[in-house]
Formats: sequence, C-alpha cells, structure tokens
Amino acid sequence: MSSQVKVWETKDRDPKSVVLHFQGSLDGSLDMSAIRVDPTKKLVLDVAGINLIDSVGTRGWVKWIMGLPSELEITLENCPGAFIEQVNMIQGFLPKQATIESFFVPYYCETCKIVSTKLMSVGEIGKQKKVSEYVPCETCGDVTEIDVTPETYFKFVSKYTKK
Ligand SMILES: [Zn+2]
Repeated sequence: MSSQVKVWETKDRDPKSVVLHFQGSLDGSLDMSAIRVDPTKKLVLDVAGINLIDSVGTRGWVKWIMGLPSELEITLENCPGAFIEQVNMIQGFLPKQATIESFFVPYYCETCKIVSTKLMSVGEIGKQKKVSEYVPCETCGDVTEIDVTPETYFKFVSKYTKK
C-alpha cells in the first residue's frame, strides 16, 4: 500500500493561522520542498497522522522546516510517539522558535496486552514537568503503565514549550 504522507491545509480555525495536517509515513515519497507556507500567518503543524519516520523523511523534513523564516511562529499539535522520538534524538528536527502544544503518551495495559496512547498538552504536565506514570485502562479499568522512559521522552518539554 501507498505509504505516502498526505498534507492538507485548513484555514477556518483562526484567520491568522494556517494548519497543515500530516497523514502517513514521513519518508522519501513526500516532496517536502513542494509544501509552501504563507509567511504572514502562524503555522500550525498537526502531525497526528504520522505513523512512521525514516531517515530520508527526516532529512526532507529538517531541510524544509529549517528553511522556513526564523520569525515564523510554528506550533506543533498532536505529536505521536514516533515524532517525539525524532524531536528528542535529532538536533534541529524543529527550529528553536517552534513550540509543541500537545503530544501522545503511550501506556501499556498488562491485562489487555495493548498499548494505548493518551493525548496530553504541555499545560497538563505543568511546571514540574511531571506526568502520570499510571493511568486507568479505558478498556478494562486496570492500571496501565507508561510505555516510555519519562526522563527521555519528555526531554522536548523544556526545549519546545513557550518560554
Ligand atoms: Zn486493559
């Protein structure tokens, strides 16, 4: 099946911003350079639909995002785990003016043997940068445990949240 990432734009939410939605695998099949950005608007990147990022995709992404004007306001929403890992791992995956608004955190349920993700906002983590390591399972009600190492996973918080 096609793994091509789809990008589409919505403007209806706030006339001063443009939302770009990403859906699919961020890999070599996407020509990031073809994505044009209106420099007079705030840019919101909704990356909820990105399920995989490979090295070619990373290179294309970095080249594109680093080529955007440095005064452009960039907000990232609904960042999945695969995306957060890149942010933490790759220097320059996001420009320094970018802020991450919301992201997914995976939790594992021992009873159901499934990983479910929970959407969180940076505001929920709060100043102490603490996140619940245990939350109730939405299926069985048992306790699920966070499926990432918080010290590693939440590294992005201090870097890409509003100063
Ligand atoms: Zn469960």
